Amino acid sequence: ARANDRMLDCFVYTTQVSEGISAQLALMADVTKGIERGEFQMHYQPKIELKTGRVFGAEALIRWHHPTRGWVRPDEFIPNAEHSTLILKISEFVLREVIQQIHQWQQQQFQLQIAINISAHDLLQPGFSDLLLNLLNEYNVANEAIELEITEGSLIDDLDQVINELLKLTEANVSVSIDDFGTGYSSLQYLYRLPISLLKVDQVFVKGLPADEDASHIAKAAVVLAQKLGITSLAEGIETQECLDYLGQIGCDYGQGYLFSKPLSADDFVAWYTSYEPIFSAPPREG
Ligand code: C2E
Ligand code: MG
Ligand code: MG
Ligand code: MG
Repeated sequence: ARANDRMLDCFVYTTQVSEGISAQLALMADVTKGIERGEFQMHYQPKIELKTGRVFGAEALIRWHHPTRGWVRPDEFIPNAEHSTLILKISEFVLREVIQQIHQWQQQQFQLQIAINISAHDLLQPGFSDLLLNLLNEYNVANEAIELEITEGSLIDDLDQVINELLKLTEANVSVSIDDFGTGYSSLQYLYRLPISLLKVDQVFVKGLPADEDASHIAKAAVVLAQKLGITSLAEGIETQECLDYLGQIGCDYGQGYLFSKPLSADDFVAWYTSYEPIFSAPPREG
């Protein structure tokens, strides 16, 4: 009977896994259709300078309103898309959408640097940097107006190609950040080899601050590492004033999180920005 139970467990498990896989396949098949049907849109979350409380930019984050599933979170489709050329379709949509938005905001005298998330896999496509530079040109947007956030959601074997594409972009004054620092496959190698100007400390090391001692050691080390490398640091996922104050004390340059604002639609973001009163971090303690 026990062997039978185990077989049954195994059967249930296998069925669940394959249901999971076919659900993912169905979802992936819907991405292309979804882009054509206009189901995707970008939301924007402010990036704050911690010393002054001023907004210095925003991060563009994709949102998908699926016809039958409702809102689908990027974590549910980006990682799988990264394993195929689908990620290129998504990134192409994102680049055009954001650059078009910056162009529209420029016409309204609203100028902020906007960060776009891309996968390191995008950079393995030889034409990627040209696509981006051409779009900036097409919409008459300055290269300095955007920033790229790179994550390493899956392992990259041809880092040289990634570096070549990135160098083309940084030479054209597009700045590059490393996202989710501390959680990826090769964060330190990226930091060492890629032309990066901002290090984004992953929210897993930020959420529990200041109480979580281990997280605080890692956050502090990441901020110092950035300083030593001559680049700036940003903490993701700031939800409380105590967390913000602590980050100010350890010398973190920038921050993002629900304490300031959740990601908002373009119109809501402008409305938020217009009425924003700076939230400062407490000045560093003496000694
Ligand atoms: P990410 O780039 O690290 O973005 C930060 C994520 O943390 C966002 O989730 C954001 O909504 C969330 N977040 C921001 N502040 C807080 C906070 O205070 N507390 C908590 N709990 N969460 C916070 P989101 O929008 O669901 O995106 C998840 C990930 O999906 C992103 O992580 C990024 O890696 C990827 N992604 C999102 N948009 C795009 C895109 O357009 N292209 C690509 N390639 N990836 C994207
Ligand atoms: Mg990001
Ligand atoms: Mg991140
Ligand atoms: Mg992330």
